[in-house]
Amino acid sequence: MREFARAFYNSKEWRTCSRAFMQSRHYVCERCGGVAVICHHKNHLSPENINNPAVTLSWANLEALCMDCHNLEHMRADSVTTFAEDGSIASVTEGKEIKNFQQAADALGEMLQKNGFVGSTKRGAEG
Ligand SMILES: [Zn+2]
Ligand SMILES: [Zn+2]
Repeated sequence: MREFARAFYNSKEWRTCSRAFMQSRHYVCERCGGVAVICHHKNHLSPENINNPAVTLSWANLEALCMDCHNLEHMRADSVTTFAEDGSIASVTEGKEIKNFQQAADALGEMLQKNGFVGSTKRGAEG
């Protein structure tokens, strides 16, 4: 993650706030209804607002997103906090790792598509 946000993402305040927020959203992605794993800041964090709780800890500025919707939101994420199913913090990931993850996810998606695991919606009325 960006250096300026490191202390924030490690803070008890953020962990408590983000977990409570995700629980309030029942870990449902606010855009597609998928499983939300990321607590996204609508107003992206910057060195200017990182010390402003009205930005960093305000639920009005938070959005529960799944990995896909978050990737669409900003392809090169600054950093994200992901959540396990039980609501515990699963990981805090740095931007560079996200990029690697994205590449890995893309490669996996391509492989699955090639092998016909996804994207092949069979129609019942075929033939
Ligand atoms: Zn989504
Ligand atoms: Zn985000």
